[in-house]
Order: sequence, then structure tokens, then C-alpha cells
Amino acid sequence: MNNEIYLDGNATTCVLPAAIDAAVQAMGERFGNPSSTHGTGLKARAMMDEVRQRATRLLGVGTGRLMFNSGATEGIQTAVLSALVSLRERRARGEAVGTLLVYGATEHKAVPEALAHWNRLLGLDFELVKLPVDGEGRHDLEALRELARDAALVCTMAANNETGVMSDLAGIEAVLKYAKALWLVDCVQGLGKLALNLSATRIDYAPFSGHKLYAPKGIGMLYVREGAPFTPLIMGGGQETGLRSGTENMAGIAALGAVLAALEQGGTFRTHGELQGYRAALAESLRRAFPDIVFNAPFDKALPTTLNFSVPGLSSKELLDVFDAANVRVSAGSACSAAKAAPSYVLDAMGLPEWRSSSAVRMSFGPLADEAMIDEACARIERCGQALRSAGLLSEEHADAQALDGVLQLSAGGVHTWLVCDEASRRCVVIDHQDEMSERIDGLLRRHGYTLAARLCTREGSSWPVDGDVLRIGGQLLQRLVLNAGQLAYLLGDGVDRLSASEVAYAFTGDAASHELARWVSPETLLCPAREAQNACCTSLRAEAQLARGSYADMQLDSASLEALLLSHPNALLVDVRERYEQAACIPGGRAAVSVPLSRLADELPGWLSTQPQVPLVFFCRSGNRSAKAALCLRRLGYASAYTLNGGLALAADFGVRHVSLHELM
Ligand code: PLP
Repeated sequence: MNNEIYLDGNATTCVLPAAIDAAVQAMGERFGNPSSTHGTGLKARAMMDEVRQRATRLLGVGTGRLMFNSGATEGIQTAVLSALVSLRERRARGEAVGTLLVYGATEHKAVPEALAHWNRLLGLDFELVKLPVDGEGRHDLEALRELARDAALVCTMAANNETGVMSDLAGIEAVLKYAKALWLVDCVQGLGKLALNLSATRIDYAPFSGHKLYAPKGIGMLYVREGAPFTPLIMGGGQETGLRSGTENMAGIAALGAVLAALEQGGTFRTHGELQGYRAALAESLRRAFPDIVFNAPFDKALPTTLNFSVPGLSSKELLDVFDAANVRVSAGSACSAAKAAPSYVLDAMGLPEWRSSSAVRMSFGPLADEAMIDEACARIERCGQALRSAGLLSEEHADAQALDGVLQLSAGGVHTWLVCDEASRRCVVIDHQDEMSERIDGLLRRHGYTLAARLCTREGSSWPVDGDVLRIGGQLLQRLVLNAGQLAYLLGDGVDRLSASEVAYAFTGDAASHELARWVSPETLLCPAREAQNACCTSLRAEAQLARGSYADMQLDSASLEALLLSHPNALLVDVRERYEQAACIPGGRAAVSVPLSRLADELPGWLSTQPQVPLVFFCRSGNRSAKAALCLRRLGYASAYTLNGGLALAADFGVRHVSLHELM
């Protein structure tokens, strides 16, 4: 069973079964080239003509032209090239064509990038101007009025991909009524969701992508108004009546045709009212899961299929991770920027505060959604809220999760903050605290009922809370060490007054070089740096000395080699290094796994490293990054049977886990 709830429809959709059938047919018995004049070709052409006619009816193409292409990015290039070539010719003839290329501040990057590219390539020197939007994400029509007189080309969108906000196309058209500017409207997110009657408007160019509405990737359309200038982007055999050369993507066209047929005939896709009901249900569950949630776009101005929100105190990465653990696929801002947690330029343009723009999550679905899917999505959203709450990340309530006791690593961008916590006295020392971690650490300590014993730093001049060099934290000693050039390190271990090298279990070393530490710690002491070195969170002097000799080619397991390992080593442990809230959100499955979040790895290391014989440890996480760090860390520290599940749970088929304590497995 596919257990995935896909709520990223604005990035792409699955392919409609009827569209898959149509594509298979076009690749099988109807494989002809529509330019061939024999029977096989004629059948292919008839199919293509039928799809074009259907699209023409649905989009109100009228006397305009509609060509098939690879998708909206190509359509945007073609439209921009067409407009700019024409503007160049008219300007050369002495016509006053305007000086500005105006584009909405929230346009998909394909638009401003194409404008800048072709403007530069054609040596035109038009000025690119961003048209501001208001707090609701709608174009500032007053600003457009100001710009319209000098605009050569205006580019706006029908609906925004991040927020779903629908543009006031009628309002923009009214402003442009007497303007000479050409007008491009990116209709990608509008297909099948907005009623479009293109030839009844003054829109000159409208690009579409099939994959945003259940057709495959690689098929799109471009509408060009009758009389609007046109220059082909691709020249060759003269296909598409010379508008776009290259043998047509017939499988894509057939599939798109099946989607358009479903749209035209009705019955397949949900109505606007039903979609609004789904959004209301999702919003309600989100509010229950995250009572402080804020929605970043007004529902009455947005497509009912997009929800964009931020939750105070939670990053988009945390939200994405917890949703992914519950097999709910959402994205941060737009898919293109999902890998980096950069603020959303769309929300920035709307003037939203930085925290909302950098922590936004987009949940989007298509009109094929159904009640059962939405109900399941709602249940999982609430499960995610509960998971974050139980991990103490969501509210001021006390966390019911495991104790904080021991050494904890909090990381952001490869920089580590270390916490030494003593559960008995509820005291904690923070080492190399980063500003962006302040809120997280304060909240963590508050919710677990801890007091801060000291905030230490390995840089010169760090304050120290007691007389002498030794601070007692629970049953352990934390000893300050002044290194060369005033840099500091902190040693942690069991001792009476001072720590001898063999007593030092951990050394928090900042950026200190290993040779500076050799007098103070043992070769096995776990060195905890402030910065990730060679992709490992912890190291030791012995590991550093042997770094060049290590070859860990067999560390990576795929699903098949994992099964083989588990068969040959029934005592192998599966170790889930995702954070506790991700583990709590996931739907339990059959495999037993122990929970050691990467942030708690350092705490677990001494136990593992001192156990003989070694038990094979197979680390896994969402995508394989964190587990690779954990396995590498152990291998470097001399633990030869540490492995990582390559590609993580995302690539492993049928890998449901239930979390058990170590004792249950031993
Ligand atoms: N315009 C908008 C509004 C989009 O959402 C997208 C895709 O996300 C594009 C253009 C580019 O479409 P494609 O990547 O299919 O060419």
C-alpha cells in the first residue's frame, strides 16, 4: 500500500490513470510521427489535433495560437524572446515602445530570469522593474498605473505557486487598457483551477505546464494572442506550423489530452466548493495541531488548493521533517528553494516578518483530492502536532519525552552548541552557544525544568562561574583548560578534584587543533568540536591520527545489502537517528529499532565503544545524511561494524519501524 499523503501539488502532481493509458497508447499502437503523411502519421496527427482543439475550447484560445512545447519555462522563454525581438525591431524603426520590462515581485523565477537573460543576450538595455505586491500578495495596481506608460512588456501571473494568491487579472487589464505594453500572464497554477477565456482578454502570451495538473512532466502549452508578435525559440523541421520545431512529444500530448478531456467532461475533478471544504478541514487540523499557526495568505484571495503557513518557534525544516516522518509530503516555500532554508522572496515581497518568511511551509493539493485522503491528512497533521508537543517543541507545557540527561549536541549549519545536562540536579552547562539557538535552548531548559549553571565559550575571554578551574555538574567534573593564544577547552569526566587524561570522557574543544590537547586527554577521549570536521560530530586523538588510513567503502547499505546483513547478523541493531519528534510522528511498522537522535549520539558513544564484541549498528534517518554522519563517526572512532542505510527511509521500500528500548533487543 502506498502510505504517502502527497500535499505538494503545486510542485507537481501524479499522472491521471487515464493520462497514463493515453500515453502508453501513443507510445504503443499509435506511435506515428504526426508530420508523416501515411496512415500511421495521420492517426497521430488526428490525435494531436483533437487535443489542441480541446485545449482551444477549454482555454478560450479563439483566433489565437496554441502550440505544444516542453512546459512553462520554455513557454516563458518563447514569449519573452518574441516580445523582445519585436520591441527591438520597432524601436529600431523609431517607434516609442517603452523602456521598462515590468514583472510582478512574486513571479516564479523563470520570468525575471528569462527577462534578464534575453535582454542581455539581445543587447537591448531595457530596465527590469519589479512591480510590488500588497500584504495579501496582490499586485499594486497604483504602482502599475505609474509604470504602465513606460512599460514595454508587463509580466504577471494568474495564481502564485507559493501562496495560491490569485491575481486580479481584470484589474490589471483595466490598468493596461490604453498602454502599449505587451502582456505575459504565467497561467501555470491556474490550469484547471481558474476559469480562463484567454481570447476575451488582452493577454498576449500565456504559458502552461501539464505536470501541474496530472499530465506528465515535459509537456506544456503556450497561448499567443492573434496578432501578438512571435519569434520561434527553436527552429528546424517546421513542426507546430513553424512556431516550435522538433517532433512533438506525442505521449505527453496524448496524456495532456486525457486530462483536458476529464476537465471538459466533468466528474473527475472536485468542484471549487469541494476544494474549499478540503482546505477548511486541513486548516482546522493545522490549527488544532499548532494553535499558534499563522496563515500567510488570505483564503478568500487564494486558490483553495494551497495553504501557506508558519508556526512560531518551529523552522520549516522541523515541520518538513515531522510531516515527512508521518509520510505527508509538503514543501518549504517553493520546491526550487526547499533545499536551503532561505526566506521566501514571495512572502518577503508581501512584507511579512522575516520569521514567517523563513519558516513558511506550503501544503498544496490538486483537484483530484478526495475526502478519504484529506481525512487521513488531517489525522496525520494532528499526529505531527502531538509528536512535536511530546518532544517539548511546541508549547510551554512540560515535555513528556525522555530526560535531557547527558551530553547533547545542537547543530545549525555545521556549527555545534553542546549541552551538558544533569538530570538529578536539573542543571545544565551550555558550551559554544550560537545566537540562533538561544530561543531553542531557553525553551528546552524551561520545559524540562532545568537551570543554567554556566554558559561557556571556547573563545578567549569566556566567563567562568566559579573560583578555580573545576565546576561540578552532578557527579561529574567540568574542568576549564586554557590553551595557546587564550583559547579554551572544557574537559568532562568522573574525578575527585581534577581530571587526569584517562578520566576525561569528553573534551569540548572549540576550534582547537588536536596536538594542543594531547597532554590533557587520552587517545580515546571524545573530542566535541564547535564545527563539523570531515562530516563527523565527534572525534578522538586516535581517530585523527588514523584518518588517512580509513576506508569505509562497505559502510553504505542499500535495501538488499541491509537484508543480507540482517540475515547474517541477527543481533544487528537498527538505530534511528532522526529527532524524537520525527520518530513520534511516524506510523509504527514491523521492524524494531532503537532511538538515538543524532543530537544524542555523543552520549551513546562511550557505551558502544566499550562493548565487546561489537554488535553491527545500522543507522538510518529520513534521507541518509544524518545516518551517514553517525556511521562515519563510529567508524572513525574504531567501531568497524557501523553502517548507514543509503538514501534513508525515503528510498527504502517497506521499512516501517517501531521504537524499542535497548534492553528489549539485547
Ligand atoms: N511558473 C509557475 C507559477 C510555476 O509554478 C512553475 C513551476 O513551478 C513554472 C512557472 C515553471 O514550470 P516548469 O518547471 O514546468 O517549466
